[in-house]
Amino acid sequence: MRGNKSLSVGTIEENEHSLVYHCPYCKQILLSKAPYKGEVWESSICCHHCEMINYSIFYHNRVDSFRLSNV
Ligand SMILES: [Zn+2]
Repeated sequence: MRGNKSLSVGTIEENEHSLVYHCPYCKQILLSKAPYKGEVWESSICCHHCEMINYSIFYHNRVDSFRLSNV
């Protein structure tokens, strides 16, 4: 049985680089759009897994994510 399903490849825009990082609370994987090279974004993100707020700094190729409180 040859189920050669033709997968549509190439729908993801290649210049829309995305970042994978981990929530500092629950360690689940989070995704974000990456800033352009040389840009840095800072924001408070609400984790959609555990709903905790974490403070994240987004670089072009990585993310630093911190807990806002040490509770
Ligand atoms: Zn989380």
